[in-house]
Amino acid sequence: MVGVGVNGYGTIGKRVADAIAAQPDMTVAGVAKRSPDAGARSALAKGFSLHAPADRMDRFRDAGVPTDGTVEDLIAASDVVIDATPGGVGEQNAPLYDAHDTPAIFQGAEDPSVAETSFTARANYADAVGADRVRVVSCNTTGLSRLLTPIDETWGIERVRVTLVRRGGDPAQPDRGPIDDILPDPIEVPSHHGPDVQTVLPELDIDTMGVTVPATRMHLHAVSITLEDDLDGDLAPEAIRDRLAGQSRLFLVPGDLGVESCGGLKEVAKDAGRPRGDVWENCIWTDSIAVSDGELYCFQAIHQEADVVPENVDAVRAVAGLADGPRSRRLTNDALGLEDSPAAVDHPVRDVGTADD
Ligand code: NAD
Repeated sequence: MVGVGVNGYGTIGKRVADAIAAQPDMTVAGVAKRSPDAGARSALAKGFSLHAPADRMDRFRDAGVPTDGTVEDLIAASDVVIDATPGGVGEQNAPLYDAHDTPAIFQGAEDPSVAETSFTARANYADAVGADRVRVVSCNTTGLSRLLTPIDETWGIERVRVTLVRRGGDPAQPDRGPIDDILPDPIEVPSHHGPDVQTVLPELDIDTMGVTVPATRMHLHAVSITLEDDLDGDLAPEAIRDRLAGQSRLFLVPGDLGVESCGGLKEVAKDAGRPRGDVWENCIWTDSIAVSDGELYCFQAIHQEADVVPENVDAVRAVAGLADGPRSRRLTNDALGLEDSPAAVDHPVRDVGTADD
């Protein structure tokens, strides 16, 4: 069993800790928090060994929240550390992991230079095998690379253009916004998201634009892909659907499900009993998949709090040398119940009809 420490127990850290605890070949060595708040109490209630920074231990003592030691103690006791602290803090923590010779996995807001490689399990698992420092890319980058990798493998991609409609903040972030506005974000075009995708798919020609809206549930991507080979105009949307439907961590939302919004997708996940209503997969609306003059279009929704969670689990297997990519993805998916569609039953693809109906 590989012992995994989780440093930073917020939106991502608490989900990653639960996912690690569900794996057959890993155990949670402990989690580290900075404050004896509700999150710390929840970690204790789950039976996780709780750790705190050395200079903040008295806060936990005063609040009657017991710890098992410092963050450094946790790092020393871990075979691998997942750093799920806010952007920039991971880089500050990196020398601590190095000092203990503990491989570390960082998150998307860190600069790519923090790690030997950026990572998504489908695009470049092998690059992370045996690495000391790996960066799991952001939620948007993870979602894009999962979609683009199988398409590139099958038909080749000449270029990609994506408009990312970004959620303003997570549900537990009352200080984020906008409340009642729509922002070009960033105003500069292309946005930084394209170069981030290139950290895992370096050959890809991709440009992105970002828009932020008053929503907390998910991101929505409007994707346009110029294919290298559209079979002389004979490539049917059904072939794209079939290829994507066979892919791990892509959920093709059938038309007859009647789910036409991100809120609807979250509701499906909650009804399916997913923990925290999490949607680990990309959600691609089947009826949005269209091909015209070699251009492939679709809409996909990304649950920003959840899609990087299985990727962190796979990153642990890669750095610890526990499995190759396909086996790791299968183990992770099985342990989470991820291959079970969030929709309870198998739905056929709807016939979208002809142009004159
Ligand atoms: P968060 O604020 O919810 O949680 C961060 C945790 O780190 C908290 O428990 C906080 O107490 C702790 N922490 C440790 N050291 C800290 C310090 N010096 N200052 C402040 N807090 C400290 O953050 P998050 O949303 O879980 O994001 C963590 C990382 O995951 C970031 O790199 C982020 O970009 C990435 N990520 C976030 C999302 C998302 O939608 N929330 C999605 C994908 C990736």
